[in-house]
Amino acid sequence: MDKIIQASYFVAAVLFIIGIKRMSSPVTARSGIVWAGLAMLTATVATFFWPGMHNYLLLFVAIGVGSVLAWVSGKRVSMTHMPQMIALYNGMGGGAAGVIAALELLKGAGLSQTTVVLAVLGGLIGAVSFSGSLIAFAKLQGIMDKAWVFPGQQALNLGVLASAAILGGIVMFTDSGPAPLAIFFLLALAFGVLMTLPIGGADMPVVISMYNAFTGLAVGFEGFVLNNAAMIIAGTVVGSSGTLLTQLMAKAMNRSIANVLFSGFGSAASQAAGTVTGSFKPIDADDAAIMMAFGSKVIIVPGYGMAVAQAQHKIWELAELLEKRGIAVKFAIHPVAGRMPGHMNVLLAEAGVPYDKIFDLEEINAEFPQADVALVIGANDVVNPVARTDPQSPIYGMPILNADQAKNVIVIKRGRGTGFAGIENTLFFMDNCRMLYGDGQEAASRLIQSVKKL
Ligand code: NDP
Repeated sequence: MDKIIQASYFVAAVLFIIGIKRMSSPVTARSGIVWAGLAMLTATVATFFWPGMHNYLLLFVAIGVGSVLAWVSGKRVSMTHMPQMIALYNGMGGGAAGVIAALELLKGAGLSQTTVVLAVLGGLIGAVSFSGSLIAFAKLQGIMDKAWVFPGQQALNLGVLASAAILGGIVMFTDSGPAPLAIFFLLALAFGVLMTLPIGGADMPVVISMYNAFTGLAVGFEGFVLNNAAMIIAGTVVGSSGTLLTQLMAKAMNRSIANVLFSGFGSAASQAAGTVTGSFKPIDADDAAIMMAFGSKVIIVPGYGMAVAQAQHKIWELAELLEKRGIAVKFAIHPVAGRMPGHMNVLLAEAGVPYDKIFDLEEINAEFPQADVALVIGANDVVNPVARTDPQSPIYGMPILNADQAKNVIVIKRGRGTGFAGIENTLFFMDNCRMLYGDGQEAASRLIQSVKKL
């Protein structure tokens, strides 16, 4: 039986890797989810046959409750609320790894020294990931302020981490009993909360993917503790892919990971709000349509507002109309546009925009000066020039799409709402920028009608 279980875990691991590989392209991503789901199913079924496994009733109840909750939340969640859900699920994974560590360590006697060390490390990372992800969830859901900064914060964080490490050492190397173990976990949970509190502004994507990596690592460590190959492999795959994603996101934001975690930089939402002068200049759909329809190149910059308005289909209809008139239309995607990595790519793919019309920041930025119009729909932070100019700004240093360098900029948004970072956008005050007010989908429909009239 043991050989069959190990073989099933090997099959599950291969399926996980195929799944993750297929998720790396929008074309194959859907099937990647199915492959990874099959992997999970294989690993779960195999675990039922684990030697000595009992408590089947509890197992079925837990799987039943988890499945119903996941099914209902998965069905109900809107695309714009996906990051919160990911943060929550990440947290659950970390929490589960932490609970395994706690239970194994409570058993005390009979564990080898290596097992204890791995359980403590996995427990620490899992607990940090659990509480940190819950704070990230609360921030993304708008339950909590984006950033909490207070004097002496970094010293406190360091103190709590050092205390957790000392308690971890005591648990590892002495026969200490449950009290130090409980304090160790409380300190680890507190550290997760404290570490996430000051992170805000545009740095949240980096933090979410970092906790994803943490959860993978914690599960991998606990896999060693339980001697479970599926957990080791799946945890390592999640940990390493999450680490790569974290590095890519940090690079996209032009930040080091240490800078995101320890500077509290993304929290300074104090910038410029009051110091930007000038006014927004409105435009109506007919004039905006003329600007685009009699030009030769239009670059469309989608952002979170396009997702909220579900305007991707209308925007693609508009792009097709312009193309029929001989205008070159391209889509420019910022790595953190929307609320999750790849958010805009997914929406544009859903609307049928061909991949060869979608360009990353590095590919498209040099083309903005030649564009007659940059049409910004529901994007804000990712086109905010203060990222280049204002060192006090929470997004300073983040590469932006150079929409401001286009000959004309048309911005579709509902009013004066700020973006995720909560700051004023100096692009909207520039001479070459006009505001086409309205909900994204409705404004795009007006533009379509106006272009059709020409
Ligand atoms: P922003 O959040 O900066 O701006 C969105 C804009 O859309 C707002 O200014 C809002 O203005 C407008 N808007 C909202 N609803 C509508 C609507 N129905 N129709 C038209 N416009 C609308 O979006 P960006 O995509 O530019 O930037 C993403 C931000 O989110 C970055 O700061 C990023 O760091 C952060 N983030 C990204 C994550 C990721 O992984 N991609 C994860 C977590 C955070 P108004 O209210 O006036 O309409």
